[in-house]
Amino acid sequence: MDKIEEKILSILDSRAGELQELAQDLYAHAEQGYHEYRTAQVVSDCLKKLGLETQEGLAITGLRASVGRGGGPNVALIGELDGLACPTHPMATDKGYAHSCGHYAQIVCMLGAAMALTDPEVAASLEGTATFFAVPAEEFQGSDLQEEVRRTHDVHCAGGKCELLRRGAFDDIDMAVTTHSLMVARDSDVDLMLGNSACNGFVGKTVYIHGRAAHAAHAPHQGVNALNAACLGMSALGMIRETFREKDCVRVHPYIRKGGEAVNVVPSEVVVDMMVRANNQEAIETISAKVDNCFKGAALAIGCEADIVNAQGYMPCPERLPEQILWDCAELLGGGLKVQSIPAGACNTASTDVGDLFAVMPVLNFTFGGSVGELHSKDYTISDPNVAHIVPAKMMALLAYRLLKNGAAEAKTIIGRYQAPYTLEEYKAYTEKMSG
Ligand SMILES: [Zn+2]
Repeated sequence: MDKIEEKILSILDSRAGELQELAQDLYAHAEQGYHEYRTAQVVSDCLKKLGLETQEGLAITGLRASVGRGGGPNVALIGELDGLACPTHPMATDKGYAHSCGHYAQIVCMLGAAMALTDPEVAASLEGTATFFAVPAEEFQGSDLQEEVRRTHDVHCAGGKCELLRRGAFDDIDMAVTTHSLMVARDSDVDLMLGNSACNGFVGKTVYIHGRAAHAAHAPHQGVNALNAACLGMSALGMIRETFREKDCVRVHPYIRKGGEAVNVVPSEVVVDMMVRANNQEAIETISAKVDNCFKGAALAIGCEADIVNAQGYMPCPERLPEQILWDCAELLGGGLKVQSIPAGACNTASTDVGDLFAVMPVLNFTFGGSVGELHSKDYTISDPNVAHIVPAKMMALLAYRLLKNGAAEAKTIIGRYQAPYTLEEYKAYTEKMSG
């Protein structure tokens, strides 16, 4: 351990109490994606107090600030701002939002890293740039929210990182460090799990089915039943499931957002939302087209019209086993912690917008313990505040320092080796096409 690393650890030990208070405050004030105004304000105040200049209002609530020599390599240290709807969680707000995915802990981690890296001696050792980046809306929160933020703020993407990429807020970033509450092995005693499992990507799809209203008892023959078309479409979807290949990890899950107007009226307007997920873009495109055929065919059979609107969701994440730098930083934290690699070969069939970062840049990821209960459930709770809040902050600060010390040799190696599936321009063009 060199003296800067010692200093990073001692700064975070001395500020642990402050970080724990911050954690409690953020945990109690979860907010909906793209509406994280209070959380963003807390982050802004903290970063400014550290003497940093912030860029704010990025994709509504996102913000960033940088430290270091300036210029590349520029390493983004990511924290996610959003909570999610979980009204039965004991910490749920009046609006029903809770941090049952633990994103507030990432914000604590990122701000802890900022406390350590802005120390003048530590900052002077960074031969490149570390950018603290608070991003909105990691959780996919549905088409109704999408319609609202598109109307009010011209937001095109469900995921905050996707929207920030689209708007160019990551144009000067060369790689990212991300973290999250443990996703696999949640019932284990693992403190740090290094690397990230493969995740599905998805496209969001909304089918608007237009029929004709009529009295449901007196004159159903005058109506055209949009709900029947939706049900037939879902039956067709069930019948094509045998064509989904195991290796593509396909998931298609629809729900009926609007099922008609009233019980005594033939349903004339029905809205079906769904997510079409797979672990590669080719499969997502193929299955998406098949699903369209199911609903178009069903609408035709009943005499309805179907309008289908696709919205690019998240890109698939590749599996990334831990780089040596992750093991090395974890070792600096001392022998008392249980540190493991992600299990090789596993596919997380859920999705994250970290996949969109992977589409254009290398990402180092670790997950942390200190919480129990399933993610997104009312049972999510903190069991070890040190492991959930302080350990990840130390890990993130050490990673940034190790990446950027000695001429940023480590960052340059990782960036040089990574073969991104898309250039930024290709990515922007592709996601635009998929939302068409
Ligand atoms: Zn999450």
